[in-house]
Amino acid sequence: MSITVLGVDPRSRSKQKLAAPAPLPHVSRRALARVRDRIAPPTACHCCDGRDVYLQSNATIYGREYGDWPFVYRCAHCGAYVGLHPDTDLPLGVMASKETIKARKDAKFLFQRLTKERFANNRTAAYAWLAKALGIAPSICHFGMFGHDQADRAADVCRAQLGSRA
Ligand SMILES: [Zn+2]
Repeated sequence: MSITVLGVDPRSRSKQKLAAPAPLPHVSRRALARVRDRIAPPTACHCCDGRDVYLQSNATIYGREYGDWPFVYRCAHCGAYVGLHPDTDLPLGVMASKETIKARKDAKFLFQRLTKERFANNRTAAYAWLAKALGIAPSICHFGMFGHDQADRAADVCRAQLGSRA
């Protein structure tokens, strides 16, 4: 299924306090403004296309609430899920299976090491390098948007770049 990457959420410029969908305690305009490459909150599952996608506590995934903004969009049919940008109702990326999310996490760990060791912690430069290495547009070069294969490829290019130290 094709995912559309949008610009900054227009609600970030709202004059009024924003309504927050349950169970979120609030949605912050300032936090919305920080999300440059936005994916709309999913109404259908990005994996199976099912309509049973619910915004809920991430305790349904981890057994207890995890992190400062412990929420996910989760598909009741196939179990795919995605976390949220803090203080917003916006998904961090594309809903995915547990295995894909693990592959993304492993790749991101290597990427963060690379960012530190080769790019002096300049994330913008490191992401620009990664987009080029993967041959994709910078707007979709986010770990939360990677499929399993793409996450594995990202891990491979980062490992190669780190050389024998990885
Ligand atoms: Zn699904």
